[in-house]
Amino acid sequence: MAQYGLDTEIQFLPGVGPKRAALFSKELGITTVGDMIRTYPFRYIDRSTFVRIADARPDMAYVQVRAKVLRKEILEKRMSVWIGDGSGEMELVFFKGIKWLNEKLQPSQEYVFFGKPSTFNGRVNMVHPDVDPSDAASSDKIDMAPARKDSFSAGAAMTGVYPSTEKLKNAGITAKLMNRIMEAAMDKGMIYIEESLPEYILNNMGLVPLHFALRNIHFPQSLDALEKARYRLKFEELFYLQLSLLKQKYIRSRSEVGIPMQKVGEAFNKCYEALPFPLTGAQKRVITEIRNDLKSGHQMNRLLQGDVGSGKTMVAVLSALIAVGNGYQACIMAPTEVLAQQHFKNIEKFLKPTGVQAALLTGSTKTSLRKEIHAGLEDGTIGIIVGTHALIEDNVMFRNLGLAIVDEQHRFGVEQRAKLWKKSCCNAPPHVLVMTATPIPRTLAMTLYGDLDVSIIDELPPGRKPVQTIHATEGKRPALYRFMKEQIALGRQIFVVYPLINETEKLDYQSLEAGADDIMNNFPFPEYKTAVVHGKQLNDVKQFNMDAFAAGRANILVATSVIEVGVDVPNASVMVIESAERFGLSQLHQLRGRVGRGSEKSYCVLMTGHKLSKESKHRIELMCATENGFDLAEEDLKMRGPGDLEGTQQSGLPISLNIASLAKDGVLMNLARDCADRILKEDPELTSDKNQLLRRELRKDKYIIKDYSKIS
Ligand code: ADP
Ligand code: MG
Repeated sequence: MAQYGLDTEIQFLPGVGPKRAALFSKELGITTVGDMIRTYPFRYIDRSTFVRIADARPDMAYVQVRAKVLRKEILEKRMSVWIGDGSGEMELVFFKGIKWLNEKLQPSQEYVFFGKPSTFNGRVNMVHPDVDPSDAASSDKIDMAPARKDSFSAGAAMTGVYPSTEKLKNAGITAKLMNRIMEAAMDKGMIYIEESLPEYILNNMGLVPLHFALRNIHFPQSLDALEKARYRLKFEELFYLQLSLLKQKYIRSRSEVGIPMQKVGEAFNKCYEALPFPLTGAQKRVITEIRNDLKSGHQMNRLLQGDVGSGKTMVAVLSALIAVGNGYQACIMAPTEVLAQQHFKNIEKFLKPTGVQAALLTGSTKTSLRKEIHAGLEDGTIGIIVGTHALIEDNVMFRNLGLAIVDEQHRFGVEQRAKLWKKSCCNAPPHVLVMTATPIPRTLAMTLYGDLDVSIIDELPPGRKPVQTIHATEGKRPALYRFMKEQIALGRQIFVVYPLINETEKLDYQSLEAGADDIMNNFPFPEYKTAVVHGKQLNDVKQFNMDAFAAGRANILVATSVIEVGVDVPNASVMVIESAERFGLSQLHQLRGRVGRGSEKSYCVLMTGHKLSKESKHRIELMCATENGFDLAEEDLKMRGPGDLEGTQQSGLPISLNIASLAKDGVLMNLARDCADRILKEDPELTSDKNQLLRRELRKDKYIIKDYSKIS
């Protein structure tokens, strides 16, 4: 191979060869010299300098301290170790391998600790630092790549640790060799790497040039240089991601006309004036955002996020009334029959003062009524239609559908959305409002729904009481039943929910039935009344049982997780979730949101088996610790974030980022998005000279989301 380039296969690099090259490709997706250079260390080892504890600060990347163990403390699942080096003391916190570490770390002995300083309660600490015997630090120095003139590593204080796998390690690719290979790749490839951000962005955002960044990400000259390098590379990645998403959005919003809805209308005002409560600030803000979209002349494509119970239905009703007030129809689609019915009931009550006619259309609507509704939709006498998928069947025609509201978006596929589109009138697609109670961290929402606008209701209606969440195992069941009886004696109602998962459906139904029997034995009729609801019942039976609970005639509702989502029974104050370890965080949170809606103190009891996996345990602990859906979503993202493989990203998310993290780099994501937004506002097609580089980079298609349908 005489001529190297970025596309040269890595097998030609010294130390690689065809066998290892094949492994690199299979294990890490690295095939070319260019790929290699863009594979970054996920941490660094610096065995040459020690930081005094007194000088350690949380903004430092990694530090190495040499210190003695002063004392240890083991509290349930964590171990604290206090160390001292004469300059000060520092707490080290360990969650894993406590037994082993406890034996290894002897009081008064000196060790070398290597980790990332952070703060807790205003004091600097380190969580899970590496621990080595003190004398190892000098003898066991990790070899720097041989120092040569103009070598990238010359004078470097830190060695990068690269993603690796068992197979790579078994093939002899040690940390040391990996550094040598990287050095060779850079020797051959760097001259072909061109700056990928225009100079004006580098200047405006205070970013270092690409060459400097790449050199220092691999072979940092100093901590400061490393930080600058990371910042630049993360920014670049997030910036192009946002630029690509926003560009699509700009193009769409300029080309797609929308139905102009100029006024608020009388129906809206009448409903608004008759509301039994003032809207929350968040509801008002969101309605204003929607109102502005509707009158803009462009099609609205808005995602409305709000925790369970935050009052999204109200926003839906008022938005639908704007459409009606402008002479158009609106539809509200729910994922299940029960939810559609619930919506309809709620909505009817708010519509009374307006005189607007609404109807409910689901799979079980009787044929005669169905015909009437079809006619009403065609001639326009029905202003608002609530329903399930039945709404988008081909034989349903609208006179002039202006707004489609879709609740719990994640259960609607792309196809169904397309069908909705076809129901448009006047050569413009209906405005679309998608509502979801699955909180998605803002950074993720901005990216996953990058071409949608996002509104967030981040405020619950006043008077909500916090829900106390308790974790219990089978042994506590008698106590649970006693507690349930106390609550029933106080006039409260109780949900008992069982998981229902396709693959284990048969077993799940068995445990639901066994559970229901157990409840009925322990809560005997007629003193107690128990209603059971699940998907295998006939619709009439299901409805009868639901109604019995909603109307307060039944004390306990035993149900599967599929049925009860969205049900509003303010008098229910206890949610018992059986086999809670089988639910995901957001599902648990949704279920919990069913209680705490009334004025009484509410409880959520998470029943689990004794043995829990690490993840299940963590989920249950988080549920007990916080009620904030967005915090839970952030945690969920972090948990699913970096995978088990050392340094390789296995996030399970539809976007893979090389260096930035959706979970941790929210602030930088905002900066990158603002920057991209400013550029596109000025030059939407990126035609100006100074933006030619951006155009070229975007065409490389690196930042396209792989699969939209994977969302939630
Ligand atoms: P979501 O759909 O977001 O889960 P809902 O729209 O079902 O929430 O609202 C939950 C409950 O709060 C309903 O009983 C609703 O009538 C009530 N509600 C909505 N907005 C307000 C408000 N601004 N003040 C008081 N109660 C409200
Ligand atoms: Mg709702």
